Amino acid sequence: MLPKAGSLWLLRLLRDIQLAQFYPSILEELNVTRPEHFDFVRPEDLDGIGMGRPAQRRLAEAVKRHRSGNKPKNWVYKILGGFAPEQKETTPPSDSPSFLPEPEGGLKCLIPDGAVSRGELLGSGCFGVVHRGLWTLPSGQTVPVAIKSLRVAPKGPVGTELRDFLREVSVMMNLEHPHLLHLHGLVLGQPLQMVMELAPLGSLHARLTAPAPSPPLPVVLLCLFLQQLAGAMVYLGSRGLVHRDLATRNLLLASPCTIKVADFGLVRPLGGAPGRYVMGGPRPIPYAWCAPESLRQGAFSSASDVWMFGVTLWEMFSGGKEPWAWVPPYLILQRLEKDQARLPRPPLCSRALYALALHCWALDPADRPSFSCLEELIQEAWPPEGHCVRDVMEPGALRMEPGDPITIIEGSASSHSPSSTTWKGQNSRTLKVGSFPASAVTLADLKGSPATCPVHKGSPAWGEQHRGSTDGVRPKAKLRELPPAKSQRRNMPLQRIKGISKSLESVLSLGPCPTGGGSSPPELRHARGVPQRPPGLLPRPPFASSSFQLSQPPRERPSWPKREPLHNHPLEVPRASKATVPDPKLQKRVMEVELSVHGVTHQECQVALRATGGDVVSAIQNLKVDQLFHLSSRSRADCRRILEHYQWDLSAASRYVLAQP
Ligand code: ATP
Repeated sequence: MLPKAGSLWLLRLLRDIQLAQFYPSILEELNVTRPEHFDFVRPEDLDGIGMGRPAQRRLAEAVKRHRSGNKPKNWVYKILGGFAPEQKETTPPSDSPSFLPEPEGGLKCLIPDGAVSRGELLGSGCFGVVHRGLWTLPSGQTVPVAIKSLRVAPKGPVGTELRDFLREVSVMMNLEHPHLLHLHGLVLGQPLQMVMELAPLGSLHARLTAPAPSPPLPVVLLCLFLQQLAGAMVYLGSRGLVHRDLATRNLLLASPCTIKVADFGLVRPLGGAPGRYVMGGPRPIPYAWCAPESLRQGAFSSASDVWMFGVTLWEMFSGGKEPWAWVPPYLILQRLEKDQARLPRPPLCSRALYALALHCWALDPADRPSFSCLEELIQEAWPPEGHCVRDVMEPGALRMEPGDPITIIEGSASSHSPSSTTWKGQNSRTLKVGSFPASAVTLADLKGSPATCPVHKGSPAWGEQHRGSTDGVRPKAKLRELPPAKSQRRNMPLQRIKGISKSLESVLSLGPCPTGGGSSPPELRHARGVPQRPPGLLPRPPFASSSFQLSQPPRERPSWPKREPLHNHPLEVPRASKATVPDPKLQKRVMEVELSVHGVTHQECQVALRATGGDVVSAIQNLKVDQLFHLSSRSRADCRRILEHYQWDLSAASRYVLAQP
């Protein structure tokens, strides 16, 4: 169910102790809306809603902690109160979904100094160092965490560094989303420490740039990350916040298939002018990621975050390359505005995804898609997948064996000779990318028929149309019809966009930009440079291809990507009406599933619910099995048994499988 205004504390409290499934019954059957109401709840009442006695004890502990931790104690609370984003003054972007209920003020959790121990150094930023650590809960249970310590010892509630540190805390404590890094609490010691969810696999940037033998990331995984990022940004926008620092260095990997947006140091509320934040003075900003209006006027909005999303997409598909590294920073704005230049299409990026990035880089912020629209656009641009049906050994072709799962990045067919059709794709077993004869692959969508026409819903293949090629894709002649009005263009999935702005068209015909040369002094390139790995730290373990599901053809296919259209099922959200007339019952169920399973997307929840005919509990369990399956090399049946053993506590089950050799 959707969290109700004023009861978010309850949801958080229950989630922290893995009892979120009791949120609806505690709220609606027991009528608990404030922490004090628990004084009147008897064990029999909790028995009545199906809560076991060990869970009741956990709940009692958590309520006690919550009540003692909620009382303002010292100056830190005052500062944090002062920094909390002021939602009432915020003008939400016109297309943002309805506001979530206002969270209660106050810290999530005050953690005693002795309850955390610091380990290995993970990295350092502007005002803090981050260590891996362990947090010991009152129950004795230990939780792996990341601990960010304020570098300069505070002398009192003054000083920019302390202020910025607390600003980040105040932003994080009001956020709750599966793809935003979670703040567990604050240690009021010397130094001040933020205790955060640990992203054990480090930053996406580090993973993208990890040297061989780390395999490249599967294209479908990158698409999944984009979708997770867009989902998180929809949420952030709905809270009236701009991130201002979207980049792969600030996306952390909580698991091989889950990213979390981190680094909320630059997050600001969109107060004042409608949907815009204007910087008060010269501050460091990530130059090469910024929208023109941010560089020119210091103006930030959801639309400038969308621009950064496009740059982040570019980084992902470029293997973590630095955007505009070949242009001196003082020329970037001119290249963007005057020359209409845009970052070139990376080789791994399909035309459909590149078109999406170009859409994000529209000069006029009003021409850019919203994040909710982007969620749909990504779905539409999802690369088709198929299976290899014969050995491909031809020189120069991508090697593949029968049964290999293949992701199609690009098709280019000769209309005169269909037999010479070649496609570009990625072999998900070897993760190698290359061209191959289309006849060697059967597309999953076509149920075994030969791959003569990839169903690539989102591929506009504009460039190909210039040259009269079919691109192996249904022609999109109508794309060049009259462009819709700006206001109509928002919230439009790619399939339905009938035109694109002139600036984007001209960019498409630009061809690749020159690479190399023109390097700029590092201090000018972007003020908040890509974080350096501290000396002595080994690169983080890459995704071992043996543990990644795409590299194991005999195993069941993962639940993503979900490209199949939603048929007329009672649970489906019809595309056209999704943004305008959401089915509240469905939304409630989807939200319930989303809140109960760590790291799943909205779409994954919809699909899971569809598969179980709307049964929330089974959907939650299936998704948890999926999560554990992706995390380990065990079969789904094994994962189910382990989860049953741990009473469906996904974190406990994950810890168990990760601890096994
Ligand atoms: P700044 O805070 O100055 O903007 P930053 O993002 O590099 O820069 P931090 O947020 O302090 O700085 O993070 C420092 C490093 O620690 C980063 O490289 C990041 O990858 C790593 N890190 C931060 N938080 C976590 C986490 N929760 N789990 C794992 N690694 C983390």
